[in-house]
Parts: sequence; C-alpha cells; structure tokens
Amino acid sequence: MSSNQAKIKEKVRAAVFYEKGKPLQLEEFEMPSAIEPAAALCRITMSTICGSDLHTISGRRIEAAPLILGHEIVGEIVALGNALKTDGFGKPLKVGDHISWSIMASCGKCFYCTHSLPQKCSSLKKYGHTCINDGQPLSGGYAEYIYILPGTAIFKIPAGMPDEIATPANCALSTVINAMETIGFEKGDNVLIQGAGLLGLNLIALAKQAGAKTIIVTDISEQRLNLASRFGADLCLDLSKLSEEQTCQKIKEAAGGYGVDVVFEVCGVKAAIKQAMEVLRIGGRYLLTMVTPTTLEMDINKITRKYLTIKGIHNYNPHHLGAALTFLNDNANKYPYAEIVGQSFPLSEIEQALQIAMSGKHIRVAITP
Ligand SMILES: [Zn+2]
Ligand SMILES: [Zn+2]
Repeated sequence: MSSNQAKIKEKVRAAVFYEKGKPLQLEEFEMPSAIEPAAALCRITMSTICGSDLHTISGRRIEAAPLILGHEIVGEIVALGNALKTDGFGKPLKVGDHISWSIMASCGKCFYCTHSLPQKCSSLKKYGHTCINDGQPLSGGYAEYIYILPGTAIFKIPAGMPDEIATPANCALSTVINAMETIGFEKGDNVLIQGAGLLGLNLIALAKQAGAKTIIVTDISEQRLNLASRFGADLCLDLSKLSEEQTCQKIKEAAGGYGVDVVFEVCGVKAAIKQAMEVLRIGGRYLLTMVTPTTLEMDINKITRKYLTIKGIHNYNPHHLGAALTFLNDNANKYPYAEIVGQSFPLSEIEQALQIAMSGKHIRVAITP
C-alpha cells in the first residue's frame, strides 16, 4: 500500500447480495493490501438505497451475484494512489478528504471514451454492480470501505455539505443535469416532468433555477406529488385520479394551449411515452431516461408532423457530478433537499433499512457504516 494512508483496519465488513428474496449476508473481506497509482481507498460515511438496488433485490433487474450493492456513496479517503493529485474541480486531493465520485470507472482509451462518452466506455465498471468474484470485491456502498478504481471521477464535497444532501447526488442529480444539458433546456420553457421520484424532484429544482416558465409534474403517489409541490412545481397531476384525456387537457392548458416545450420521462412507465407525444407542442423536445426493456407500437407521424426531437440518456459524464455538487452548494437550501433522506441505519441493520426503503415511505433511506 502507498505511504499516503491513514491508519486503517485489516478486515472490512460488507453486506453481500446473493439472490432475490434472500437476506443480504454480512461478511468480512480483506482490506486491499496495495493501491494502484490512480486508485484510492475510502472509508464510507454514508450510502443511500437507490430504487435500482431494490430492483436487483426484488429480481426485477438481474446482476451477476454475489455482489455488494450500493452506488450512491460518499466517504473519506484513507489511502491514495501516487498518481491521484487533484479532483475533478482541480483541487488537490489528500488522505482525509471527504469525497463523492462518479458511479462508474472508464478506461479513457476506447472509442467511446475518446468520443466524449466515457459513461458508455467499452470496459465500464459500475459501483454496486460488480460481482465480488470479478476483480476487486470492495466495489459497492453497503460496506465499511470501498476501493475507488482508476478512471473514476472524484470530487471533493463542498465544505459544510451534510452527507444526507451529498450522497444521492452522484446518481439522480448528476443524471438529470445530463438530461437538462442533452435536451438543451432553455429559459422560459414550459416543462412536463413525468415522475416525482428523486430524478423528478431534482429536475424541478434544476428547471426552476434555469428559469422555466411552468413546471408540471405527474405521478401516481400523493405523497411524492406533495413533495414535488414543495420543490416548486406549478401543477401536480395525480394520474391515479385523472383520465388520460383529462391529464393531457390540463397539461396543455397549463402550458398556454399549444403544449409543452420539453418533457422529461423519469418514471419508467410505458404509458408516459404516448402521453408525451400528445402534450408536446409542435417543435417540442422529449428526453427519456427509461432503462427497463420497453417495446412500443406508435404512429411515427406523431414525431414527423410535430417536428419532435427525442433523445435518450444513460449514466452521465463525470463533469455532471461536479455540476451536481456545485448546484447543491449554491441551491440546496432553497429546496426541501434535507427531507430526501428520511431515515438512517447502521450497516448491521441493512435488512431493516431495505424493508423501509421498499415501503416507499421515504425518497431515500441511508446506511451509515
Ligand atoms: Zn442510484
Ligand atoms: Zn473506455
């Protein structure tokens, strides 16, 4: 191990996922004995449970197991490779720094890495998605320590920012900053956000700060819509209480009659696509984040005759994480970000934490190893 290190333990406790329906197993791993020059070892101070982790646990998403889940993670550097001198902001890095990092590590050399899409690197490694038998086992957030691989974008967390605010930023907020940039959000846009989960809530704050004219949010949960309203949505529509026709009519009315300029799909529901085609104005733009396999039969004339632009995103570029942390540093106090993490549990109570997370009671549940 490099000389740049703090005093650390020899064994690492982690919760390991084996298969759906089985409780996670608390197991011990060897602390890595050496650190590559561009890698770091981090003591995890908080992980938050993302919806995609719950999909793996419930069997909706298939991953190579056994693995340590969790990709929304922050922590403190305990050992630092000699080649890691600065973070993504260009600030010097040292042992003891409190950091956030991208959900993935990229090679920096392949076709996609050299074409501004490191998030689609041909040898991409994602935290919380890698089998423990496949290289470095300490690659997930439900553990005391994590090995940060070469090719990961590391950012120092702005001074004074609580873990509850910083932890989920490397997933939801970074993704929707990518969404805003990809679709070319403009001041004065009328926007429909399909889904009031963490992606949707972050989009409200981003759209608001970017000068959106009207922000409309749809969801089927009254609780989520209430929070959306407190984040600053102008109109919240409960799809469980309205017909499709009523919904479309209300959206168009709120957007001044022509339809909305921009729609963001952040709900993963197929029916949302048809609704977007209906409520987008001529010349409107649609941004999809859906990752579950979805087949669609639709009239392509809806796209051609309406001059629609449809774009998709998956993962994000490392610079979006830097932008996410800066955004929170400047704006988190203007929005109810402090309510995102509803409850925290120690690693030993991971099962309880997962049950609460499954209940949907909170936007996020945290683990503080
Ligand atoms: Zn996530
Ligand atoms: Zn690559």
